[in-house]
Amino acid sequence: MNAQPMHFRWATRTDTGLVRDQNEDAVFPDPGTAGEAEHLVAAVADGMGGHAGGEIASATAIEAVATVSGPATIRVNAANLAVQEAAAQRPRLSGMGTTLTVAIFDGDGTVEVGHVGDSRAYLVHDGSLSRITADHSFVAEMIAAGRMTEAEAESHPYRSVLTRAVGLEHTVEVDLFEHTLVAGDRVLICSDGVTAMLDDEEIGRILEEHEDLEAAADALVEAANAAGGIDNVTVAVVDAVSQGSVET
Ligand code: MG
Repeated sequence: MNAQPMHFRWATRTDTGLVRDQNEDAVFPDPGTAGEAEHLVAAVADGMGGHAGGEIASATAIEAVATVSGPATIRVNAANLAVQEAAAQRPRLSGMGTTLTVAIFDGDGTVEVGHVGDSRAYLVHDGSLSRITADHSFVAEMIAAGRMTEAEAESHPYRSVLTRAVGLEHTVEVDLFEHTLVAGDRVLICSDGVTAMLDDEEIGRILEEHEDLEAAADALVEAANAAGGIDNVTVAVVDAVSQGSVET
């Protein structure tokens, strides 16, 4: 356990991108907020389904994550049930689902990540970026099996096909990750509208270049759009800071 008490600062953004008509991503905390807290929940959801299903699925999942208390598995399972119930009430929304990546930050420095789908969580520690989550996608499985390269996956017609999503079945298998953060660490959660446009090196460089959280979040969205913006672009950037540190 980390002896140093920690606070967390955040900035979030969600953007329709340059090609899509609507934004089916959702993020928590709301992009209109920013602040610092000893406990923080941050989450990104990327919905799918016709008839506005994608938008409703991601918003429903994020609402459940934000209102239910408890660890990541409880919150993701609550989101799973909430999306299912919303679909059951409106048959034309049946089959809607969403990715969901939730990070729960605690003042003791721990972050617990619950993850389903192909949104991602990254950690920046000592200036280097690493992936916390693994994608639940067809192409990720092919890469893991040695049957496809990362480069081939980028342009594969099935690159957005998920192998696991929230809201489709009564239960959902949730990947869990736990890290102990130190002051100066940064966590990024983002939708595939970021990672389809920017490789890990570019994401790491942007996070490194912008110490200011709001500037980092803006820069990621701008870079994804500058690279084509083919999908909705959503980011939650969270900095671990020592408790009592003063803004200068
Ligand atoms: Mg997407």
